[in-house]
Amino acid sequence: MTEMFKNLIAGEWAGGTNASRNINPSDTNDVVGEYAQGTVDQLNDAVAAAKAAFPAWSRSGPQERYEILKKASDEVFARKEELGRLLSREEGKTLAEGIGEAGRAGQVLAFFAGEALRLTGEMLPSVRPGVGVEITREPMGIIGMITPWNFPIAIPAWKIAPALAYGNCVVIKPADLVPGSAWALVDILHRAGLPKGVLNLVMGRGSVVGQALLQHKDVHAISFTGSVATGRKVAEACIASSPMKKVQLEMGGKNPLVVLDDADLKIAVECAVQGAFFSTGQRCTASSRLIVQAGIHDKFVEACVERMKGLTIDDALKAGTHIGPVVDQSQLDQDLKYIQIAKDEGGKLVWGGELLNRETPGFYLQPALFTETTNAMRISREEVFGPVANIIRVKDYEEALSVANDTEFGLSSGICTTSLKHATHFKRNAEAGMVMVNLATAGVDYHVPFGGRKGSSYGPREQGAYAKEFYTTVKTAYTLA
Ligand code: NAD
Repeated sequence: MTEMFKNLIAGEWAGGTNASRNINPSDTNDVVGEYAQGTVDQLNDAVAAAKAAFPAWSRSGPQERYEILKKASDEVFARKEELGRLLSREEGKTLAEGIGEAGRAGQVLAFFAGEALRLTGEMLPSVRPGVGVEITREPMGIIGMITPWNFPIAIPAWKIAPALAYGNCVVIKPADLVPGSAWALVDILHRAGLPKGVLNLVMGRGSVVGQALLQHKDVHAISFTGSVATGRKVAEACIASSPMKKVQLEMGGKNPLVVLDDADLKIAVECAVQGAFFSTGQRCTASSRLIVQAGIHDKFVEACVERMKGLTIDDALKAGTHIGPVVDQSQLDQDLKYIQIAKDEGGKLVWGGELLNRETPGFYLQPALFTETTNAMRISREEVFGPVANIIRVKDYEEALSVANDTEFGLSSGICTTSLKHATHFKRNAEAGMVMVNLATAGVDYHVPFGGRKGSSYGPREQGAYAKEFYTTVKTAYTLA
């Protein structure tokens, strides 16, 4: 019998009126579990529970928050193989990537356990003699979280952990496509000793549960990760609500990787193939635009194709698989649509793009690489969010930088070069929140800020100590001595 997973509201597990089946994209006959679809009433109950829990939790000491987050981190580490397997089974990234992501969630929880103990304020004299000024940080209140399907445990962890560390209460709605990993994380935190109502999970559709969360008057802030189209709706709803909500949006990318003539070819190919196609290209930081200088262009294309020929695309859980399936039929349709668009625009498909049959029915797509593309084509301007990349040939560094920055996105930007001059100039002039030199555009640390510019991000950064900019609010107190 398929297991049924419920919502967590006020410390109790509650079924929804409906359930959705979580399907394994490597084998569509395999049902990971049935997950409750929350109702608007349940969402309202979850916010009410968070509101009731807030006075005590916001005044709880940092020691209690440290202990709960540390305990949860220890359990995540102890179960990282099992959690990684669940993640790969529901999302389709390889087992190594799934276990790596589960480990990342453990690291994030441990980091913010420590951050709970490190929150500081300032005390300074007033410009008025005899008056003192204190600047402190207080929790924001009740935080609503809406997360995407491509990092099913890391993203919920990097939102929930800082929220709890700084004394907020949480209502999270994970992606309806892959709720299993978020469910497991919430279960771990709940059993680690969180008082009831501090962390609530309501699964279900964005248009139902997500909308109700955005419109609820008692929610003070929304942390969202997902597409630009949904992000815009989230921001509009946060501004339209009364009182207005604080909002943080992490959205799409069309991340450039520049390869200059003087690049180490091996490093450049590894950065390109890893960055563009691993995790099935389903990363907001994926290198989808490869901007390559004319002198190295042909060698680079040939070496990339050789490297791609050696990739095994198969069941995410199988040993030896380098790239798992696309997450579902609708994302696969989108990938195939963009492959056709690139062909119609005059791009030359030099490798891949074929649907693949494997032992089990799944959404298997051979990574696709296009050459002879320009930065004006749709394939260069719109996020595909799949294993599809295109190469744009440029004459020199100046053109490469200008093409890299000519996009409405600005999440991650990379360069492969052995020139200190160009690397330094690129770091200063790339219009992106994250810049990589001789590294893939995807792959970041958890103790430093994560986020972008332009159309990719809105509001304060996530992760590292910078997370407090979103999860706390500053108070300035004046005292006449
Ligand atoms: P999506 O925008 O379709 O959905 C994201 C979340 O929003 C889901 O939980 C969904 O149910 C919810 N949602 C949908 N409609 C809603 C509505 N009207 N009101 C409230 N909530 C609603 O995105 P996705 O397909 O899950 O994820 C892929 C996207 O996420 C890509 O664009 C990718 O680049 C982006 N992403 C960005 C980052 C980052 O940090 N910048 C990280 C991962 C993914």
